[in-house]
Amino acid sequence: MNKQYDLHAHSTASDGTLTPAGLMQRAARAGVGAMALTDHDTLAGLAEAREAANQAGIGFIPGVEVSVTWEKSTVHIVGLGVDANSQALQNGLAGLREYRIWRAQEIARRLVASGVDERIYDRAKALSNGYLISRTHFARALVGLGQAKSVRDVFKKFLVGGKPGHLAGEWTTLQNAVSWINTAGGQAVIAHPARYRLRRARLQQLIREFIAAGGSAIEVVSGSHSRDDYFTMAQHAREFGLLASAGTDYHGPENPNLELGRLPDLPPGCQPIWHDWAKP
Ligand code: AMP
Ligand code: MN
Ligand code: MN
Ligand code: MN
Repeated sequence: MNKQYDLHAHSTASDGTLTPAGLMQRAARAGVGAMALTDHDTLAGLAEAREAANQAGIGFIPGVEVSVTWEKSTVHIVGLGVDANSQALQNGLAGLREYRIWRAQEIARRLVASGVDERIYDRAKALSNGYLISRTHFARALVGLGQAKSVRDVFKKFLVGGKPGHLAGEWTTLQNAVSWINTAGGQAVIAHPARYRLRRARLQQLIREFIAAGGSAIEVVSGSHSRDDYFTMAQHAREFGLLASAGTDYHGPENPNLELGRLPDLPPGCQPIWHDWAKP
């Protein structure tokens, strides 16, 4: 069990349900040595999280999870150790949040056209804490309006390909995301690579382009990976000489199957992304 580093988690600054401070306090209670905050397309939670991590006596890694469109697929690139004052990163993320505002209105329009309650946009917006609006907020709002039993269910019925609330993402490029992260002094990581369901050759192509753009690592151990995925991704890491990262992708205590820091060790032969970091 690896309790030292948990390098992927969300707060109320994006689609998590714990505040940045609440997340760090929970990480400390769970025995995490160093915790990253990696909210979707925003740095808004980092200052509060850093302060709380310091107070709780655990290490803190300022991060972000950038939304990317790569060959028509949505891919997430985590940045670790980023400087929240970087203009390049801030400007890039601001553009993604602009797109999110338009997209949320479009998702709501399509849902209402398919017969969903007209209050859906206001409900989703109210759940979003004013930072940014994501499909997770729509999912929670749809459950609240009785349109489905669970968030998982909503995604299947409304928010994925071929369903009424789905639209293809138009996020930033892989090259932009990696460059913003590197310019901000961070390391870029391909988040939960198994989630994209890419065929092997396409995943290898993604990895090659990621490396060419200046990317550093892939998430080998992730809360959304199976045991088989750990070993497949460890192989890719070794083959391409990428560093290996590990994170729960925690979104809040509503999911009883996931706890901060509860991650298996990286498979043998992986070079951990934290190998040359100062001890937390
Ligand atoms: P967005 O960035 O607005 O497209 O929202 C993506 C977020 O929705 C992801 O980060 C997950 O938190 C959540 N999500 C995506 N797919 C699912 C799913 N099938 N079940 C539950 N949550 C999901
Ligand atoms: Mn999320
Ligand atoms: Mn993600
Ligand atoms: Mn995530």
